[in-house]
This record gives sequence, structure tokens and C-alpha cells, in this order.
Amino acid sequence: MILLASGNAHKLQEISQILGVPLRGLSDVPDAPDVVEDGNTFEANAIKKGASLAAHTGSWTLADDSGLEVDALDGAPGVHSARFAGEHGNDAANNALLLEKLKNVQNRQARFVCVLALCGPEGEALTVRGTCEGRIAHAPSGKSGFGYDPLFIPDGFDKSFAELGEEIKQTHSHRAKALEKMKREFGDHPAFSGSLT
Ligand code: IMP
Repeated sequence: MILLASGNAHKLQEISQILGVPLRGLSDVPDAPDVVEDGNTFEANAIKKGASLAAHTGSWTLADDSGLEVDALDGAPGVHSARFAGEHGNDAANNALLLEKLKNVQNRQARFVCVLALCGPEGEALTVRGTCEGRIAHAPSGKSGFGYDPLFIPDGFDKSFAELGEEIKQTHSHRAKALEKMKREFGDHPAFSGSLT
């Protein structure tokens, strides 16, 4: 069974549902190695996570890395999205800093990016990238979701992801698009049929 390089039960269930295969999570690997996400690209970080776990367990492993790219900030926060304002995972501080940096900036164009890497125990790595285009609002709104959702208005809508809610996100998000692409491009890979460990 494929391993997902995440201990998040919600992510595990959502990804397993979209791909249509059962997945094991990090909670099944108590001695999993700690991986520092210090790559310059989403691909590098996803592969680093997936490959180290695949080598450690001998099992095919799926890993993801995601973040927000803002055109007026030359692609920042990018791979630093989780710790844009310094402290890892401080969503309120990250959103406040983003608004501050975009004060008086007209170009609000941005995108969420998600890279998924399917990594094998012999160093194999297959990646797909899903993106969701949109723009950065002038103030946060909505309560659903996490991270930059209160500031991100996806193309085709006039509300933030945090206002639009989970159902829209499950079909329009960068993660959903990357998963659909993984299914389309590599769905018949032996790792998914369970014929590889
Ligand atoms: P991770 O790679 O999934 O841990 O995401 C890294 C960071 O990117 C998160 O901490 C968020 O700040 C941001 N991010 C990634 N995906 C989303 C999303 O769907 N909504 C809002 N923020 C996101």
C-alpha cells in the first residue's frame, strides 16, 4: 500500500478518496526520519520528503509541497509560504505581512501551487504540478480553510476560498488539480495497484 508523507488524517482521507486507493500515513511509521524542507522549488521539497521516506520504509511514497506565488512579489512567498512572517504556520502573521507588502500595489495576480511526488525505494520520482490562479484581496474574509485562504480569490469567483468553503476548494484547488493529474498521468502505475510495495 502506498505511504503518504503526512501525518494529517484529513489530508490522508481526502487524497485517498480522490485517487481511489487506500493509503498509509506517517502515523504508521513511528521512526520516520525528520525532513528539513529547504529546497528552492516545490518539486525539490516534495521529492526530498517522498524519497527519504521511501528509502527508509522500502515502500512507494506520495509526498506533496504547496504554497502561494504572488506575481508582484516575484513569486514570493513560494516555498517559504508556511513561514513567510518568520514563525512556521502562523497564518495570521503571514496574511498580515502579505497585505502589508501589497499595500498600494495594483497587480494582485497570484496562484496556489501544489506539487505531488510519487517516490520509489530505488530513488524513482514522478512529479505533477497543479495550480489555481487567482488574486489577492485587500482584506481577509471568510472562516473556512487555512493559510492564505481568507485572502485568495480564485479566478471565476468574487469571494475568497475561505468564504467559498470546502466543496469549491475540493474541485478548484491546486491540490485537487495535482491529484487529478496524478491519477490521469500515473494512475496505472503498478504502485497504485498494490503490485509494488
Ligand atoms: P504545505 O506544503 O501543504 O504544508 O503548505 C505550505 C503553506 O502554503 C501553508 O502553510 C499555507 O501557508 C500555504 N498553503 C498551501 N496550500 C494552501 C491552501 O490550500 N490554502 C491556503 N494556504 C495554503
